Amino acid sequence: MITAVVTPVLVVIVILCGLDELSAFKVVDLTHELSDTTIYWPGNPSYNLTELFRGQNGAFWYEANYIAQAEHGGTHVDAPAHFYEGAWRIHHIPMERLTGPAVIIDVIDKVRNNPDYRVQLNDITGWESDNGQIPDKAAVIMNSGWGYKYPNKTAVFGTETPDVPSTFHFPAWHQDTVMWLINNRHVYMIGVDTPSTDFGQSTDFPTHVLMAKNTVVGLENVANLDKLPVSGSRIFAAVIKIKNGSGGPARIFATISDSDKECTNSGSIQLPPSKLVYALISICVAKLFLLYCNFW
Ligand SMILES: [Zn+2]
Repeated sequence: MITAVVTPVLVVIVILCGLDELSAFKVVDLTHELSDTTIYWPGNPSYNLTELFRGQNGAFWYEANYIAQAEHGGTHVDAPAHFYEGAWRIHHIPMERLTGPAVIIDVIDKVRNNPDYRVQLNDITGWESDNGQIPDKAAVIMNSGWGYKYPNKTAVFGTETPDVPSTFHFPAWHQDTVMWLINNRHVYMIGVDTPSTDFGQSTDFPTHVLMAKNTVVGLENVANLDKLPVSGSRIFAAVIKIKNGSGGPARIFATISDSDKECTNSGSIQLPPSKLVYALISICVAKLFLLYCNFW
């Protein structure tokens, strides 16, 4: 009699806990749309979407297009092979290298009067004093506020002549900071909300070379960084799997959940509250089972 009443109640509690888990799980899109306004580095062909068919096709509606584009445009991934011979090309990158805890380095105030700003080591130590040590295998991304300029080409490249790279002015990473992150925090990905992990005035791209040499994946033109907490989210760089690609367009997104928040900085995994509820319910069910069997 007791089990006939209690069991359905427990089932309802379990379902409600499951719903709670889902509602606590938020996804943030960090990707600019691909379109004929997509920004490419000078010299690349422009984006091409050609309609193959769009209309009524007998009994049903039908749409299909042809697309062509350069690898390094819009929100995209740089494979290590982009700047280092023999390094991973896109299809070589293991999936676990394309996800990790997201660390957002906010330099919006610092770039306001200095578009040539490069993220310094004290930006990292400042982040760590507020948020704890950057976990291993993280994706560390500069948020300069540049995402809001996209897709205005002159604003994004910081010049009235966006076809002339020597005139570019936009912020990115300092190579010494990147070296420190590689050696001391074993990062998997380094990203920017600007067109390049090297700043606009760079001519020898030391950050690209350093990252490539150390099999660190690059993320460029990352969008919507202001919608992420500076710590506590998990990033996914779902790059298109081009065989032998040096990079490729990616749907980059992040998830924010209670369990991510608890795992990010501690280095150890703690059970989030809803998991504890599951554990308690399991104990109750086991107890009832024993009661029913007259073992209690
Ligand atoms: Zn690139």
